[in-house]
Amino acid sequence: MDCVFCEIINGNIPSTRVYEDEFVIAINDLNPQAPVHMLIIPKKHIECANDISAEDTELIGRVFLAAGKIAEKLNLKDGYRIINNCGKNAGQTVMHLHFHMLAGTNLGEKLV
Ligand code: AMP
Ligand code: ZN
Repeated sequence: MDCVFCEIINGNIPSTRVYEDEFVIAINDLNPQAPVHMLIIPKKHIECANDISAEDTELIGRVFLAAGKIAEKLNLKDGYRIINNCGKNAGQTVMHLHFHMLAGTNLGEKLV
């Protein structure tokens, strides 16, 4: 399988791991859009949010538990934003489910 995030999870591509547990890893984004920009990535290869199944329910909860732990570790007391892009219209470029976690500044205008 040709998946850059699976390669990162397997350790075949180096990355800065901000957080890791049995279910997810978090790495610094290669092309940061905010002073703090990480990707929280479930270790299971799921292409996009549309492919999440009932058996992944706990896994998705683990993503948000990880976010809380990262926020505590990095002292993101002023908050953060989590974004998921799913599919072409959202501009998803890596077809392995991931959640952008942005922080470190006032994130300003938003869509919703
Ligand atoms: P998306 O557009 O939601 O699919 O986001 C994919 C993100 O992955 C982009 O923000 C890229 O900068 C980031 N990215 C791609 N390859 C790597 C990599 N090897 N290490 C860290 N981030 C990456
Ligand atoms: Zn993958």
